[in-house]
Amino acid sequence: MRRITQVEVFPTKIGLKTKFNIGTGFVGDQHSSGDHIFVKISTDDGYFGWGEQRALPSWSYETTESITTTIQSYITPVLIEKDPFEILKITDEINTILKPAVSNGHPFARAAVDIALHDLVGRILGVPIHVLLGGKRHSQYPLCYALSIDTPEVMAMQAVALDPCHCFKVKVAGEPGLDEARLRAINDAVPEAKLWIDANQSYVPSQAIDLIDRIRDIRQIATFEQPVSSQDWFGLKRVREHSHLPIAVDEGCFSSYDLAKIIQLECADAVVLKLCKSGGLRECLKTAHIAEANSIELLGSGLTEAGIGFVASLHLFSTLDFILPPELNAPAFLESMVAHGIETRDAVAVIPDRPGLGILPDEDYIIENQIHF
Ligand SMILES: [Mg+2]
Repeated sequence: MRRITQVEVFPTKIGLKTKFNIGTGFVGDQHSSGDHIFVKISTDDGYFGWGEQRALPSWSYETTESITTTIQSYITPVLIEKDPFEILKITDEINTILKPAVSNGHPFARAAVDIALHDLVGRILGVPIHVLLGGKRHSQYPLCYALSIDTPEVMAMQAVALDPCHCFKVKVAGEPGLDEARLRAINDAVPEAKLWIDANQSYVPSQAIDLIDRIRDIRQIATFEQPVSSQDWFGLKRVREHSHLPIAVDEGCFSSYDLAKIIQLECADAVVLKLCKSGGLRECLKTAHIAEANSIELLGSGLTEAGIGFVASLHLFSTLDFILPPELNAPAFLESMVAHGIETRDAVAVIPDRPGLGILPDEDYIIENQIHF
């Protein structure tokens, strides 16, 4: 039997090209880099697989340190000596030693490991990850890029500069008048582009309804994501009852169990899928399947993961159908994707057909920019 013999974890700093702000505050800029945690899993017969996630504790609680030590101290002992083909049994064991509280537990750490296991198995079998999931439905995906919160004029210029992208995640900040001005300026600057509003929990329900009333005439706005606090189910329901736009849930839905509750409460029309919050590819698919069977529409996104996390999302998303282009914005924001072999041109990403992820990380960059603590 083939055995896993080594798990290596590399917390790494990757700079952003520009400043990035969302509804909960500052994400990063050229001087304040994001932290990405890379994982390499190796076997006794020379195979390896890579995974990655980005720590963003202002979005969800896991930190660079917690993701690194969770993998090193809790998940690695489960992986060592295991047959990498038994991903479901390995996942069950990890989920037994890392129990969730109300929603998902340590999903970012588990997702990085799950990606590495799928890359490893794909490399051993000589098939891409999307084949392990049933095969791709899409060979390429146009991407949606995010517009960082700024003045209406600057956000409009950001959209023009990102041409030929045709769909923008417009970050808004809980200010109905100013957010309306932002949306109108962007719509005037790129009138053909679809606009996907994301408030990142920055509104109270009455103010979110005020914004919705102000923007009824802007036909290019396709959805309004996470207007209110992640735990405010009833606030979300109130907003939805007053909205002509589909209301999407993101921070309020980390798992298929969360989605089951949201469906019972009738408080969302769409769900945002993200590998990081799901804890892995199959957990994310479970949420997608629950959504499809309940007429909840799908949106795909990420947290500006570098190349490994970006391509893992592409493999998963290539098996699904979304109502808008997936928002995977790393090519627009990161100074380096820290990977070789990614094919992204003019805001269109090609789904790799090589074994595993179909790309390799830039190990020199990872070593040079490794975080030591
Ligand atoms: Mg979001």
